[in-house]
Amino acid sequence: MLPFYALERYEGNEALFNLVMMSIVSTYAGEPLHVHAEGLRGTGKTTIMRSARGILPFIERIKGCIYNCDPYDPHCPNHRYLSQEEIEAIGTESIPMPFLEISHSAKVGTVAGSIDLARLTDPNHPEAHMLPGLIPQAHRGILFIDEINRLADTSPEITDILLDVMGNKPGHLQIEEAGLPAVEITVNVSVWAASNPDEDPGPLEEIRRQLSDRFDMVCYMGRPHSVDILAHMLAENSYQKKSRFYRQRKVVPIDESKNDVYRQQIVRWAEQYAKTEMPEYLRNFIARLYIKHNLESIRAIEALQQGAILRSLIKNRDKVQISDVTETIPLVLRHRVDGDTLVRIINDLDTRGGKEGILSFKSRKEKKKEEEPEYFPHDARSLKDLSRSELISTEKNLTPTDY
Ligand SMILES: [Zn+2]
Repeated sequence: MLPFYALERYEGNEALFNLVMMSIVSTYAGEPLHVHAEGLRGTGKTTIMRSARGILPFIERIKGCIYNCDPYDPHCPNHRYLSQEEIEAIGTESIPMPFLEISHSAKVGTVAGSIDLARLTDPNHPEAHMLPGLIPQAHRGILFIDEINRLADTSPEITDILLDVMGNKPGHLQIEEAGLPAVEITVNVSVWAASNPDEDPGPLEEIRRQLSDRFDMVCYMGRPHSVDILAHMLAENSYQKKSRFYRQRKVVPIDESKNDVYRQQIVRWAEQYAKTEMPEYLRNFIARLYIKHNLESIRAIEALQQGAILRSLIKNRDKVQISDVTETIPLVLRHRVDGDTLVRIINDLDTRGGKEGILSFKSRKEKKKEEEPEYFPHDARSLKDLSRSELISTEKNLTPTDY
């Protein structure tokens, strides 16, 4: 598989690159962001998601803890009652943020947990113990599910588990095994899913609407219309390009320094995430959107707030802007409202002209002038009003002392 940095970005896949990055930042900060990529095969959605594994930052856990206990917030049955001194005695270790994958043929035991047969049949110390499954082992990381629509169709039990895990942030998981007390555990995991709604059994929202609503954002990688994008996809997916990459890799190993650049950026953005507040006027705007368009899902507007903040971070801005909200709207609503409603909401934003819409809300409320956001300065002059000397820096005014 190509490393994340070597994947090419073009118009049709940029949104998914952004979502993947936003979810990693949020997960690292401790708040999951569940992302679903829908689209035709060949659009590279699973490639982008799987290769993101290579740029995941490192997390600190209690040494050897398979549940990835945070040394400052232990949650697993083995460590949650230990004192800070006892944890220090065990020690800590740094591991890559987990990235685990559930296949659509997975069994409940593998996903949630099962009885540890090795320990049960140990001739010296036969003990009944729980072996955590993929979900508890993905704590503080990513859980990837390709073809989630097929999983939802064929495995209602695993779907129910996912509904619990994705129901709150952090989520819950109950591990049950006959003859053993049930283990209740916290899991903070971002679920990433991919599916092709045009193939059997159809779109996820038609199979399990509840599960579809659990995804904060859905990115639809549509049928490409541009010749450039199609030609590009053909080149990317060609046997020649792939084999050339594998031949080269034997000589040139994966450049970890390029992955490190991503890692450092993720850690920095996650630190900022904890400090970035949604401006009040944008929060009110989201609340109005909910009431005006009669949206049913509170999750949708929570995701809109979370997504807009994360988007402002990965765009390297220190403040959330109206565009961060409006650009996020289709991603949080497309799978939750019908097409007509989405078009109405977007048209509404367009006719109001985005900024004006917000500002007119404010003027109606007669807010004080100093509370107005400073993103739209009123003292700007248009280009045609500027003189040539203000527009063009000549050599003379750059180095006046030389003349
Ligand atoms: Zn632990």
